[in-house]
Amino acid sequence: MKDSLSYILNHLGEERSKYFNAVSPPIIQTSNFVFDSFDQFRNAIANEDRSHIYTRGNNPTVQILRKKVAALEKTEDALAFASGSGAIAAAVMTFIRSGDHVVCVDNPYSWTKTLFNMVLPKFGVSVTYVDGRSLSNIESAIRPQTKILYLESPNTATFALQDLNECAKLAKKHEIMTMIDNSYCSPIYQNPSDYGIDLVLHSGTKYLNGHSDVVCGFVCGSHAHVKQIFQFATMTMGNILGPAEAALVLRGLRTLDLRVHRSHMTTLEVVAYLKSHPAVDSVLYPWDESFAQFELAKQQMKGAGGLFSIILDTDNREKIEQFCEALNTFLFAVSWGGHESLILPFCSLLDIPGHPDPEVPVNLIRFYIGLEDADYLIQDLKQAFEATFPSLS
Ligand SMILES: *Cc1c(COP(=O)(O)O)cnc(C)c1O
Repeated sequence: MKDSLSYILNHLGEERSKYFNAVSPPIIQTSNFVFDSFDQFRNAIANEDRSHIYTRGNNPTVQILRKKVAALEKTEDALAFASGSGAIAAAVMTFIRSGDHVVCVDNPYSWTKTLFNMVLPKFGVSVTYVDGRSLSNIESAIRPQTKILYLESPNTATFALQDLNECAKLAKKHEIMTMIDNSYCSPIYQNPSDYGIDLVLHSGTKYLNGHSDVVCGFVCGSHAHVKQIFQFATMTMGNILGPAEAALVLRGLRTLDLRVHRSHMTTLEVVAYLKSHPAVDSVLYPWDESFAQFELAKQQMKGAGGLFSIILDTDNREKIEQFCEALNTFLFAVSWGGHESLILPFCSLLDIPGHPDPEVPVNLIRFYIGLEDADYLIQDLKQAFEATFPSLS
């Protein structure tokens, strides 16, 4: 009961008798908390990550959210941050020091890559990228100095997976800490802690909040790991989530399960349509039988949500641009996980001064399927194909 999704999303962490039996938790809009006695104060300081002293450390509204996200990921504790990237940087920076080495899978989230390529080298930390689809690639990249194995399974461009069970075993053998960006699956479709992954990271901006109105991030792990991150990063860098944002994310979480399932189901229909269209060369979606790692996806994920890519049957950038601009209901934007369907043609990121070119084929277009009806979306795709590829439609 207490670990059921219904309990977590509707009740866990909520102490209604403390706030007039209100159903919805209040926004405790305070920076500071007062004490009645020396003893009370000293006890609070001794457990700063869980008590209420100062909102940079903890806040009751944020704490409800931390408890729910930790329970969703089946970990002992969780910390909330002002963004997913903030959460990732806090987790990584806590556990490395000068001279250390990180093994990271290919194609991580762009700002994770910048953390590894631009920020960490300033502090004497190096990184090796590997194609994580094969365990032997990961194993051969490990050095005596390797401290972190950083995973993203699936990633959000090509959706390459890693075998989480095998990665965790390998890392334990070499005494390396494992971290995974689990934003793609959300805790609804994958719980990496089931496989022994140490830290589970989220951009809560995506599915967890789900309404495209908050930027936030989470780190989930054991009490001991969370306490270290709290002391090293939360309290010093201070990139915390405020109580007003936390209340919005709590509201978003109520429908997490509904939204993620709906997005997955609609995606299956849209993917089936796209696969049948002659202008589409292939579809990259972990939950499709044509996906090279479909078996692994079924083994360690429960579903795949609404993010996938197509490879158009042309590498003419003008045609790709024309197709994307012909779409009306799909909005052209970064990010994903909200109610609204999106497209991101990766060729739009080519040749921008000061910006690295994406490492994916020029004709790859990423789709995110939101909460609209499948037919409504498919109608829009049909008319955009007809307008752009009349001979194929
Ligand atoms: C968006 C995203 C991030 C970064 O999260 P922010 O909340 O935007 O800082 C990290 N990883 C993945 C997979 C993402 O999609």
